Parts: sequence; C-alpha cells; structure tokens
Amino acid sequence: MSQDVDSRQYDHPARGTLFIVSAPSGAGKTSLVRALVERVERLGVSVSHTTRNMRPGEVDGVNYHFVSEAEFEAMIGRGEFFEHAWVFDRHYGTSRPEVEKRLAAGEDVILEIDWQGARQVREQMPEAVSIFILPPSRAALRERLSNRGQDTPDIIERRMRDAVSEMIHYDEYDALIINDDFAIAVDELEHLIRAERTRLTRVRAQHGPLLAELLSADEPDR
Ligand code: GDP
Ligand code: ADP
Ligand code: 5GP
Repeated sequence: MSQDVDSRQYDHPARGTLFIVSAPSGAGKTSLVRALVERVERLGVSVSHTTRNMRPGEVDGVNYHFVSEAEFEAMIGRGEFFEHAWVFDRHYGTSRPEVEKRLAAGEDVILEIDWQGARQVREQMPEAVSIFILPPSRAALRERLSNRGQDTPDIIERRMRDAVSEMIHYDEYDALIINDDFAIAVDELEHLIRAERTRLTRVRAQHGPLLAELLSADEPDR
C-alpha cells in the first residue's frame, strides 16, 4: 500500500487552502484575521475591491482596493472577479488572479467576504473551508460598531439591521466561532488553520520526498 509512494508524483509545492471568513459587520472579523496572520506563517489575506468610501485610517491597496462604480463594473465585464456581491448598497469583490497566484504559490489565503460571496466561492471551490464569526450578544455588536468610531450613527443603524440577514446564514459554514474573549477566538482560528494543514492529502502532497525516503525498501534498516 504505502510502499508504492513515488516521490516524482509529489515534487511540486502543495497548493494552498482557501479559507472564507464571514461575520456581521462589527463582530470582529477584521481584527481577528489581522491577529491571526501575525501568528501563522504562509497565511495571507486577500485584499478585496470595493466601491464604498474609505474610512479614516484606511489605506488604498491595504484594507481594500478602492475603485469607482465604473471601474468595478468594467472588472465584472472582464470576468476578473472570483466572486462579487452587493453589500450595504456598495459593490465588494475578490480578484481572481490575486487569489489564484497566491494559492498556486502554496500560500493559504483568507477571504473576508459576506455570505453571498461565500456561496459563489463554494460553488467554484468546494474544498474551501468556511468559518462564521458571531458576536457574544446583540448589545456587544452594537457597542463594537460604535466603539470602532469609524461609521456614522445612520450607517451603524443600517449595519445593525442587516446583521440578522448575514447571521441567518451561519449554518452554511464548516465552523462557527463566538468572538467573546478575543484571545480565545484567535486561538480557535489558529487551531482550525493548523488542523487543516495536517490533512493527509495535504501533507502527502507537500512531503512526497520525505515519505518516499521513509518508506523506501532500498536499504532495509536491520
Ligand atoms: P466591516 O466588515 O464592518 O469591517 O465592513 P466592510 O465595509 O469592510 O465590509 C462590508 C461587507 O462586505 C462585509 O459583510 C464583508 O464580509 C463584505 N465584503 C468585504 N469584501 C468582500 C468581497 O471581496 N466580496 C464579498 N462578496 N463581500 C465582501
Ligand atoms: P468587522 O471587521 O467584523 O466589522 P472589526 O474587526 O472592525 O469587525 O471589529 C469591530 C470592533 O470591535 C473593533 O473596534 C474591534 O477592536 C472590536 N472587537 C473585536 N473583537 C472584540 C472582542 N472580542 N471584544 C471586544 N471588542 C472587540
Ligand atoms: P466593511 O465595509 O465594513 O469593510 O465591510 C462590510 C461587509 O462587506 C463585511 O461583511 C465584509 O465581509 C464584506 N466584504 C468585504 N469585502 C468583500 C468582498 O470582497 N466580497 C464580498 N462578497 N463581501 C465583502
């Protein structure tokens, strides 16, 4: 069985895994994902395109690629989006070439996208691992949206109203994390990513030469 492991079959870098993270606005996904990528090697976040206004402190090309409605529509026309959706009356989308290039180079990539985008990604890439993040209470969600201090009161009200229509999709995901204690939530995310990396198919793809050497019958050690 295992003795016929052939290193030639495996001498390419393993393709990265795609992780989808969704949550209602203010649940903490951006802060959690930022803390996560500091801790986990070979893990990156995809930078989405959006037509919403830049918040104070946001940087074009870092938080998002901020584009006009016309540019966004031109990108849709050219088929450049892996997924895109209309969220809070604005366009948001993930660039296909960016994600493909990073996965092909062996990097694990996180998409911070809404439930509509998550559905489009699962259809095209059923092996993607999806994670939903919930706040510990409705009051905490409102408090986090206000404390973030980046959205006007009417935007906060709009996001609170839309939170239920996002959260209602929690059961379409592979994993569910309640972001109550921030440090615990980051730990849970980290464990999830590391556990995914130990899947047999993934380790075998990455460590073909090692397996071939360990199982080689050439020089029996006796
Ligand atoms: P925040 O989540 O409160 O920080 O607000 P954002 O304005 O950053 O994001 C608004 C919504 O757009 C969230 O529900 C995200 O999940 C969603 N979103 C962000 N980027 C993308 C994307 O590339 N594609 C899709 N489909 N949704 C996105
Ligand atoms: P999202 O990206 O989901 O909209 P953010 O990451 O911007 O959410 O978080 C919203 C606010 O809540 C931020 O001010 C962040 O510092 C805060 N926050 C995130 N997680 C926690 C937590 N576990 N406890 C308290 N505050 C939190
Ligand atoms: P915000 O404007 O507060 O940064 O994000 C609002 C919502 O847009 C969040 O729920 C976020 O997940 C979603 N979002 C951000 N980028 C994308 C994206 O590229 N695709 C999709 N589908 N949703 C996105």
